[in-house]
Amino acid sequence: MKVQRILVLAGWLVNAPSALAARDQVVLADPASNKVTKNVAIIGAGSAGSSTAYFLRKFSQERDISLNITVYERDGHIGGRSTTVGVYDDEQNPVELGASIFVEVNHNLVDAAKEFNLSTSGIREFSTEGPVLGIWNGKNFVYMQYSGGSWWDTAKLFWKYGLAPLKTVRLMKATVGKFLKMYEEPYFPWKSLSQVAYVLGLTAATASTGEQFLDQNGIGKLFAQDIIQASTRVNYAQNLPLIHGLEAMVCMATDGAQAIEGGNWQIFSNMLAASHATVLLNRTVSKVERQEDASYIVSATNSESSVTFDQQPFDEVVLAGPYQYSRIDFDPQPRHLPDPIPYVQLHVTLFTSKHKLSPRAFNLSSDEVVPQVILTTLPTGEHHGSNREGVGSPGFFSISLLRPSMDTREGRDELEYLYKIFSPAPLNETFMANILGLPANRAISKADVSWMYRKVWNSYPYEYPRVTFEELQLDDGLWYTAGIESFISTMETSSLMGKNIARLMVDAWEG
Ligand SMILES: Cc1cc2nc3c(=O)[nH]c(=O)nc-3n(C[C@H](O)[C@H](O)[C@H](O)COP(=O)(O)OP(=O)(O)OC[C@H]3O[C@@H](n4cnc5c(N)ncnc54)[C@H](O)[C@@H]3O)c2cc1C
Repeated sequence: MKVQRILVLAGWLVNAPSALAARDQVVLADPASNKVTKNVAIIGAGSAGSSTAYFLRKFSQERDISLNITVYERDGHIGGRSTTVGVYDDEQNPVELGASIFVEVNHNLVDAAKEFNLSTSGIREFSTEGPVLGIWNGKNFVYMQYSGGSWWDTAKLFWKYGLAPLKTVRLMKATVGKFLKMYEEPYFPWKSLSQVAYVLGLTAATASTGEQFLDQNGIGKLFAQDIIQASTRVNYAQNLPLIHGLEAMVCMATDGAQAIEGGNWQIFSNMLAASHATVLLNRTVSKVERQEDASYIVSATNSESSVTFDQQPFDEVVLAGPYQYSRIDFDPQPRHLPDPIPYVQLHVTLFTSKHKLSPRAFNLSSDEVVPQVILTTLPTGEHHGSNREGVGSPGFFSISLLRPSMDTREGRDELEYLYKIFSPAPLNETFMANILGLPANRAISKADVSWMYRKVWNSYPYEYPRVTFEELQLDDGLWYTAGIESFISTMETSSLMGKNIARLMVDAWEG
């Protein structure tokens, strides 16, 4: 019985320190050969782009096809939305700023971590006192979990929610089972995401809101609201009446939650190294021009020097990131242009403080301990949350105490705590003072919050119910990965899309 593993709902927020490896790399292209060589440009070095390169190399080697891969990346680092920052600005002390966690059914990531010998860590509970997890609805905690998910936690869960936890686990496993067929023949490789989702029966889950899907499957409303919605909020900043049923199920698939020590981006940097791609960092692609012979010229600007380079000619181009944020001019316009997708604007705030969270801020008595991880849901009567962001009365999606942190800067030797907060808006001083139990009328000083890092992400799409998904081929020789994000938005699914496109490409060359 795995219900007690609900703890790892908070897993996306956890990570572990270790040394950073070198991030920038330029690897030489394939050695010369007398075979016809295929030239592929990949735009974006996140999960999708790195996986495309990695599997392209793998599949083309299996078929003895000669290949040059060039990867363009606007940022100065590999990983895209999978990236770390240094606590106290110290790169030797990294913490995940974006994608933090993957799970055991994420085959591409798990296999890659093994292949590249990367150390993984599970979810860390460092405190023995008090609850490890609490679900807060802005008024009170509707659920608390104590260390290790004890039998008592499980008993309480069944006492309050009846068979709903068990039914949820069964439904999640059935849904994940269908999804995993997308990795296997005869479904893999799929030419259309809409079609494979339909054939595998997954559109039954994507067509409904999470709320409808759970209701159709006999899962009690209270469990859905208290527990499953806490998970959709921490993972996607969305409530059950909005997010579709498939993504709601993905949020419950938490077994074997893990992260790469030092940062998940290392999977992608190793994939690129293994692909022998030429990786051009700080290179923003501004134009993709199709030639009469059906090849493509890619124009890219060096973000540091503003010099523009033309690279040519490529047989195939892969756009491996959301079209709407790529700002690429396609000339001529491809047969199919992706629709703009509404993305969640997520504010991630990392900070260190010597203060623990204040019990009073969470309606607890002063001798009670605040949970290490606070997830949120809406109180009864607040169905959608008060605005499109849906955050409702809690005012934030999650607060996590990630780990103790020693501030040794400038001769200090102070034990602090490292926190991460997800919210739909910037956190103001009143909010910070309240959660840290400080007087509201005085400014927060460095003595209270010694280090802070803020980032606003276009983190993932609003996962509205739908039954069709973006095309993965925009034109002959022009491919697109990010359509999968409206189906499931994770590092693994972007990687799966990269693998799928790589296989379609190599199959077509061979054909
Ligand atoms: C805060 C946060 C938490 C998350 N938590 C998790 C989690 O715990 N687990 C999980 O699996 N997923 C999580 N996700 C989602 C996950 O990060 C994404 O689904 C995944 O990383 C997407 O990968 P991608 O390669 O498709 O896109 P991206 O990572 O966005 O990569 C696209 C790349 O393309 C580059 N690019 C775009 N346009 C151009 C251009 N014109 N020229 C050159 N380069 C360009 C971008 O700079 C970027 O590096 C989280 C996301 C966020 C923001």
